[in-house]
Parts: sequence; C-alpha cells; structure tokens
Amino acid sequence: MNPFKRLMLAIARSRLSSTKLQEGSRHPLEDWVCAKVAATAKGEAELRTIIGRVRPEEVDREALLEYQLFKVRHQMRYTLENSYYYKAKWGKAGVSPSDIREYEDLIKIPLTEPMDLAEDSMGFLCVSQTKVMRAFTTSGTSGTRKRLFYTRGDVLNIVDAIAAALKDVGMRGQDTLQIMFPTVAAWDPGLMLESACQVAGLRAVNATTIDIDEQLRIMRERKTSMLIGLTSFLYRLTVLAKEKEDLRSFGIKAIICSAEPLPEAMRMELEQAWGCPALSQYGMTEMGLATTIECRSQDGLHVDAADYLPEVIDPTTGQHVKDRTEGELVWTSLCFEGSPLVRYRSYDISMRIDPPCGCGMLTLPKIGKIKGRMDMQSKVGLGDKVYPHLFDEAVLKVRGVLGYRAVIEKAGYKDLLRFKVEYMGDPKEGKKLVEESLQSLDEFKLGMENDLLAPPEVEVVPPDQEHWVPKSPTLVDKRNQFE
Ligand SMILES: [Zn+2]
Repeated sequence: MNPFKRLMLAIARSRLSSTKLQEGSRHPLEDWVCAKVAATAKGEAELRTIIGRVRPEEVDREALLEYQLFKVRHQMRYTLENSYYYKAKWGKAGVSPSDIREYEDLIKIPLTEPMDLAEDSMGFLCVSQTKVMRAFTTSGTSGTRKRLFYTRGDVLNIVDAIAAALKDVGMRGQDTLQIMFPTVAAWDPGLMLESACQVAGLRAVNATTIDIDEQLRIMRERKTSMLIGLTSFLYRLTVLAKEKEDLRSFGIKAIICSAEPLPEAMRMELEQAWGCPALSQYGMTEMGLATTIECRSQDGLHVDAADYLPEVIDPTTGQHVKDRTEGELVWTSLCFEGSPLVRYRSYDISMRIDPPCGCGMLTLPKIGKIKGRMDMQSKVGLGDKVYPHLFDEAVLKVRGVLGYRAVIEKAGYKDLLRFKVEYMGDPKEGKKLVEESLQSLDEFKLGMENDLLAPPEVEVVPPDQEHWVPKSPTLVDKRNQFE
C-alpha cells in the first residue's frame, strides 16, 4: 500500500467510533449504538432537552426511541429542503416534522414505494453531485433497478456499522474474515465488505470463486477464522466439503449467512459441520447493506438502531402490528445524506421483536427472520400462500441435498409442484426421502385432501458444480396468472 493511501486510511479510521469499542465489550453493537445516541444528545439541543445529557451506559429503550424520533424529524426537514421527491410528498400529505412525537405518529408519514425510487432516483438525491462519493445501483431482484447515492459521511457510516456488527459476532483484531459472495453481475457486496474491513482495520480476504477446493485452500493459507457469504453458497460448500475434510479442524469461530434467508435445516448442518454458530444477516441495498445481525440467542436479528428505524405494518391497513406479529417491514434511514429514505417499503415479511434479548442486550430492537417477499408469493391449493423459501425446511433437512428449484404448474385444474433437487448419494433414496418430507407439509396434506393440489413431483440430479448460479430463484410460478 502506498504511503498516501495508508494516510487516507488512517484518517478515515480515526473517524470511526467502532475502533474505539472496548476489547472486552459484551455487546459491541449495542455499545456502539448507545455511544452514538449519547454523542448526538451532546451536540443537538433539541434531543438534549428530551433525554438530557446522557452517558452511553445511561441510554435506555426510551432514550433510544426518542433519538430515533428526533432523527426522523431531522430527516424529514432535511429531505423537505433538499429532495424534490420528498418536498412534493410532504407537501401533499400535509404532515410536518413536528407532528412526529411518538412511535404511533410515524404512520402519519406516507410510505415511500421502491417503484418511485426506481423511476426517479435523482428526485431522492439531497446533495450536489460533487459530494457523491459512491453511487450504487441495486441488482433489482424484484425487477427494478434503483440508484442510490452516498456521500463520504454515508460511506464512513456504513463502514463503521459493518465493523461494529462484525465485532458483535466476535471478530477481533487477530481474526481473518473470508468473504464468500460468488460474483454476480451488478451485485457485489463482497467488494464493499472487503473495503469496509480495510478501512476499519479488520483482516479480510475476498474469495469470489465458486470452486470449493479453492475456497478451502484460501481458508487454510490465510488462517481464516470467520466466514461470511451467500447463504446458499456457504451451505453448498459445507455439504460438498465435509465429505472430504474435517471442517472442524479449520477452527472457524462464526459463520455469517447473508443476502438470503437461513432455514433452520441449513443452520443445523452448518453448525454441526464447522462446530461453531451460524448466524443470519439481513440488509437491504437501499439501506446500505449492514442493517441487522443475528445474535447468539438465535431469536431474531438486532437492528443498528442508531442508523435505521424499522417498523412492521399490516400492509392492508398501514397500521403498526404488535410485537412478534407478522407484517411488512418498513425502514427509515436515520443518518444518510445522499439519498435518505423515509418509511421505505421493503415488501419483506418479518416481525418486530422488542428488547430485552436473551443475549443480554437491553436496548436494541430486533426483527424476526425474513419469511418471504410479499410480491413473490404464490397461492396454491386452497389458497395457501407459498413463498420461495417455504419448502426449504422440508427439502434441506434431507441429508445430502445441496439445493433445489421448484416450479408451480397447472395439471388440469390442480396445481402441481415439480422439484428438481441436487443430491449427493443414491438418487432413488434421495427422491423417496424428499417426497416423504414434502408430503408431510400441511400445505400439501390439505391441498391433496381437497383434490386441488397434485402430489409433488421430485426429480433428483447429481451435484453440478460448473452450472451453479448464485442467487437464482428457488420457486418459479409458471401458471397463467390470468386464468
Ligand atoms: Zn440478542
């Protein structure tokens, strides 16, 4: 690294608060969030009059919520002045920042649709183009590409949040994180993560290959102690590699499964094979990726509540739903300057879980594991909603399964689901086990009893390393939707 770059890195690092976290901190993410709340109260009179001049250890749930509401008011004022989209939106809705005094008031603010962002990304831009350090285009899993703009402050903020989250799952100075997102066009969280680690002074190696042996070789050579990657890839690697090696001998401390849901069947396999916890991570590109991370009590994902405010609403009424009740996740970014988003619909189905948490955290809220996307649900049989990941638990619990694809078709008046399962082992045995497991699902039992759903058809194929495509959909609906 040249001296200039080293100096720039040192300056950036000195601005991060995650680098100041105590080595012995039991809950680095919570400590980091509370420090940020306390620092904001110190500098902002409006917040200080509400929560007082607090020390980080004095920040409780109420103070954290007041901080978040203060930040929402701030972002509303900021976007009113600087974003064409929000200027028009707030004016039309007749809502002003001062109307937002408690959590329930948030529903007065109209929701922001992803489609609006896709159609007019520039309308969200709040700073001059010269202040944009990075522009990011989302891959558009739901068919729409959106452009987001980040200032230098935004990027540092994201880096800081990533570092705090990594420390929270146990990463320390002596650890090496192996980043395993097989590169897909226009979608590369690996690169972002690698530079975040570099700025934060954490050791990381970005291993983008889908070659399993190569991944293991890098692990050994770099003395990797933590893994983060695309969930389905980490799982695939584990099923294939454990046949050849004792994966526990690598001494991995934690596995972070990202960008896709982590079914319990996969978690069990990963934890048994590596002998360490497998934790889930969820973040939206629109929210700067590092939004939540699961803790070791494995009952939901902690939110970086200094930067993001999650709400869970009933999508039909727009009302907030209760703690641990399913609904749609809505996000507000509390600190972004480039393209801040206020009450942005995620279309992801989850729940809000209030603190305290079994891990000992007292203030940070959690969200439940993502159940699916509202715009990717299909209905089968009696009208049961099925999400792409509904069959994960049933199919993946069969030992030797690497992955699967399911297609919904029409067979006469009945719905038919065809599964193509990649399986290591005797194909006849695999087919039988997967069929049995699927038929034990309530969705199938009921649909078949009522003669609206045909028995699932299962085809078993051997592992195909060369043609594996990261992030391909697990459930495709091929029925004519307009019948
Ligand atoms: Zn926890």
